[in-house]
Amino acid sequence: MASIILESIFLKRSQQKKKTSPLNFKKRLFLLTESKLSYYEYDFERGRRGSKKGSVDIEKITCVETVVPENNPPPERQVPKKGEDYNMEQISIIERFPYPFQVVYDEGPLYVFSPTEELRKRWIHQLKSVIRYNSDLVQKYHPCFWIDGQYLCCSQTAKNAMGCKILESRNGSLKAGRSHRKTKKPLPPTPEEDTMVMKPLPPEPAPSAAGEMKKVVALYNYVPMNVQDLQLQKGEEYLILEESHLPWWKARWKQGWPGGLPDGCIPLCSRWYSKNITRSQAEQLLKQEGKEGGFIVRDSTSKTGKYTVSVYAKSAVDPQGMIRHYVVCCTPQNQYYLAEKHLFNTIPELITYHQHNSAGLISRLKYPVSRHQKSAPSTAGLGYGSWEIDPKDLTFLKELGTGQFGVVKYGKWRGQYNVAIKMIREGSMSEDEFIDEAKVMMNLSHEKLVQLYGVCTKQRPIFIITEYMANGCLLNFLRETQRRFQPAELLEMCKDVCEAMEYLESKQFLHRDLAARNCLVNDQGIVKVSDFGLSRYVLDDEYTSSMGSKFPVRWSPPEVLLYSKFSSKSDVWSFGVLMWEVYSLGKMPYERFNNSETTEHVIQGLRLYRPQQASERVYAIMYSCWHEKAEERPTFSALLGSIVDITDEEP
Ligand code: ADP
Repeated sequence: MASIILESIFLKRSQQKKKTSPLNFKKRLFLLTESKLSYYEYDFERGRRGSKKGSVDIEKITCVETVVPENNPPPERQVPKKGEDYNMEQISIIERFPYPFQVVYDEGPLYVFSPTEELRKRWIHQLKSVIRYNSDLVQKYHPCFWIDGQYLCCSQTAKNAMGCKILESRNGSLKAGRSHRKTKKPLPPTPEEDTMVMKPLPPEPAPSAAGEMKKVVALYNYVPMNVQDLQLQKGEEYLILEESHLPWWKARWKQGWPGGLPDGCIPLCSRWYSKNITRSQAEQLLKQEGKEGGFIVRDSTSKTGKYTVSVYAKSAVDPQGMIRHYVVCCTPQNQYYLAEKHLFNTIPELITYHQHNSAGLISRLKYPVSRHQKSAPSTAGLGYGSWEIDPKDLTFLKELGTGQFGVVKYGKWRGQYNVAIKMIREGSMSEDEFIDEAKVMMNLSHEKLVQLYGVCTKQRPIFIITEYMANGCLLNFLRETQRRFQPAELLEMCKDVCEAMEYLESKQFLHRDLAARNCLVNDQGIVKVSDFGLSRYVLDDEYTSSMGSKFPVRWSPPEVLLYSKFSSKSDVWSFGVLMWEVYSLGKMPYERFNNSETTEHVIQGLRLYRPQQASERVYAIMYSCWHEKAEERPTFSALLGSIVDITDEEP
């Protein structure tokens, strides 16, 4: 299937095939690809796309523009007045759609209404970008609706009547520049377009000494692979903060992000480059893709180079194909090479070269393969301004579950990016203290921590907005998944958690409630730690008192049970119990004991047994977390070392 450039829920006006049929407006899921604009029913209950209701061929589109809003629209298409109080009911499913735009094609105008101005702008921008080579682009359009058989702007009655207003010059010049072309198909990309994810905008001056920043425009969509990355949206502009000879440049999305501007680390050539992919993951991805010349550039574990290029080629003998891993070597003069004769100053240049020349590799680098993940842009370095998110930018799509603080929903931010929204039940949390601390928590950013995106605190209930994790909580994932997990997969889960905890340890931030129920799994099966530090704000004696029925007794070391003494080392104890949960596929620790029996036994020195799936070495790691003396337990950093050692020794 063609890759989706944009995906949003809009209101669509019926196109009134018969003059007598009444106008109606329906919510539809719109998808934009290079070749089609399609719209579908949307099942809000399940958060799923329903049946297709129609589509427009991109090559038939002649104009995309805003429309002057109607005179007296009903509330759902009215722009909220400034200062108008936010009404929770209006957003409980999906908010208003006050911003109309038109997509004109051979059947006349299609009118679409966007929930926000920003989203309308983005769609118009993208649509204009995909239609830019169309041969029938018009120079005039109708700024107002066609309604009751005529255009409100010029009273012409034919739906296809020529426009009455000249488009702004930018579109005119685009048209003028291309109009000599007869073909309806876009030209194939030039080699440069084909190989660069971003290219400088033509009219911009070079990076200036005067503090002006260089701008680039993304030529491809790029979905972030980890929290340091910035999402690239094809056609959007980005400011380059720091250039480098490595494949990653520091950049910033020009339009900004909720509450401020995260300077993401950014993939100049991320289409080629995947951070944090292991050799076996690379092999799996390349085999899945099965394309001759598929390749992944990834961090190298070898001592001889920083990067490795993994390449796939079909094989006459092995139906699975063959894969070779080439370390990118670096000369003392900082030049890179794969094959000795060909030296390059940058990795992108090296890859561009090998896209055209195999020069000793099993195949040319034809097809970049990466992990795709549809998540909200990650927002590392969230310390910019306040992190208040405007609730009007949220669309609520599906209920995910209920936790300590109330209902958690899946939704979209600005109609496009997946988010999870925790709606904090009033009276369940000491809100003021949490809001103060939220700023600190938002600065915590690690690829194995569920990212906190922001908060909505101007209304009640308050919302906590986080990264969306499609596979839900780890405990259920372990219990419910039908297939058997390989020992390596179980260890990988523990490693994910340990990486997050090593990071929290380095920030001297305590989790205080680490357990499988507080970890989440994303669509890639990556486990991330959630709810860090939140337990301090719970208002529920049964949970906060170590004698309470909801206190996580089974995850607590003796010094917490006896003196409520929390430390990184009490998190380490909990991590050992979490490893045990993972290896016993979600069993309840000390299942035959109640809470007070568990406390008694732990204090007397009893420990959890070795789960069947855990090897002696794995059990030794979890067991080391349960040393009676906190100071004798390993640090997370040491634990991670032990886990990695086992990973490396497995085939
Ligand atoms: P609380 O922190 O209020 O106790 P939880 O975090 O346990 O709530 O969330 C309740 C349920 O909602 C979880 O078991 C999980 O299934 C779902 N959930 C919570 N956060 C997310 C998320 N970020 N992505 C996907 N599902 C989530």
